[in-house]
Amino acid sequence: MCGVFGIFGHEEAANLTYLGLHALQHRGQESAGIVASDGQKMRAHRSMGLVADVFTAPIIETLPGRSAIGHVRYSTAGGSHMKNAQPLQVSFAGGQLAVAHNGNLVNFDAERKALEADGAIFQSDSDTEIVIHGIARSKAPTFEGRVVEALKRLDGAFSMLFLTEKQLVAFRDPIGFRPLVLGRVKNAYAIASETTALDLIEAEYLREIEPGELVIIDEQGLRSSFPLAKKGPGRCIFELVYFARPDSTLFGQSVFEVRKRLGQRLAKEHPVEADLVIAVPDSGVPAAVGYAKESGLPYDVGLIRSHYVGRTFIEPQQSIRHFGVKLKLAPVRSTLEGKRVVVVDDSIVRGTTSRKIVKMLKASGAKEVHLRISSPPTQWPCFYGIDTPSRQELIAASHSVEEIARYVTADSLGYLSMEGLTWAAGDPEGRSYCAACFSGHYLTKLNGQ
Ligand code: AMP
Repeated sequence: MCGVFGIFGHEEAANLTYLGLHALQHRGQESAGIVASDGQKMRAHRSMGLVADVFTAPIIETLPGRSAIGHVRYSTAGGSHMKNAQPLQVSFAGGQLAVAHNGNLVNFDAERKALEADGAIFQSDSDTEIVIHGIARSKAPTFEGRVVEALKRLDGAFSMLFLTEKQLVAFRDPIGFRPLVLGRVKNAYAIASETTALDLIEAEYLREIEPGELVIIDEQGLRSSFPLAKKGPGRCIFELVYFARPDSTLFGQSVFEVRKRLGQRLAKEHPVEADLVIAVPDSGVPAAVGYAKESGLPYDVGLIRSHYVGRTFIEPQQSIRHFGVKLKLAPVRSTLEGKRVVVVDDSIVRGTTSRKIVKMLKASGAKEVHLRISSPPTQWPCFYGIDTPSRQELIAASHSVEEIARYVTADSLGYLSMEGLTWAAGDPEGRSYCAACFSGHYLTKLNGQ
């Protein structure tokens, strides 16, 4: 998972990119970077860490120009190192080029091997580098032609931004796994992973960049085309469940409203006698609100989240992740004491967080803890850009709901059904979404197959 932001035609390009990345911080916290162009020269700054730590006003001043792209990263392919921080930037026969990528290429290993056998040298272990090689090696006469040729070789999830001295190019893969939206601020165009980034810079939201759409922005304006064979669509349903910010409009829908509907449906599918509903903040809040509304139970605050730690799951080491739950969540004893509590979260991955939360709630006086999950059991790893562990580590891949309930020490456990999920996501048939993490139905070939 990552976040991308780009802008073309604004004096404050780097500053606005900084703000845009700040709004997308939830999509990646390992590294941040901006590349800006003044029409002649491109300049970059990238480093490990959070946007607000990586960039200072003097650093942003070193990035002049009217166009820029930026990236926040959390690694799904390639390690968590400086060399993988994006945007990647190179000089090639066609000029200078920077690339920012959200997604995950499923044919990376095969493509990399083929390129290396042909003499290519890789500087990072990020899958994004193969697109740069594709562009540099293409014999097409225009930059657009080079990009299209390179894109044709990619398979998987890729919402990508390219910056040259004089153009901003955006492409969303034909399946459209990851979001990408277009906005306008004054005379400039802005492109971002989520609308929340447009809102922050007071850009007007124009529309989604469609699956398979190539958008080229330069001094002549904006051109759009669909150069690759049509596929999908398969928008990532987990973005709606968990990943995107609830204030975003994603795939044409309010994420908050979708999550509330998930909770309402969950209450219908798994009602329980209880005294109150609480959320695991922040990810469980909208669904808990929906659950409370539908069930008629009061919504209350039983857990307080510290805002000074990142998403625990994103920390790559198990040791840190273990520590993380306690660092992140604190129980409110006065809410919980003697109460039968429904606690709503968006998903269970390994089960370790839920187990700690349930134990914490009981230790703080909750009489009963009924865990409700606003998505179906996560049984399959994601190969399209969500950082999930291997299948063996997914508790629902090898355990029944009853077994999971016992493991997490909950008095009862209820997951939303697949039908409930697609209904709440506004597509009862579920045809426009990728829900492979719940169904195992992958929409592309997988690596090595
Ligand atoms: P676990 O302890 O492994 O079951 O983690 C479950 C928690 O991780 C839930 O509270 C989810 O909100 C959160 N979560 C689920 N998927 C992800 C992900 N890909 N990245 C970060 N956090 C996640």
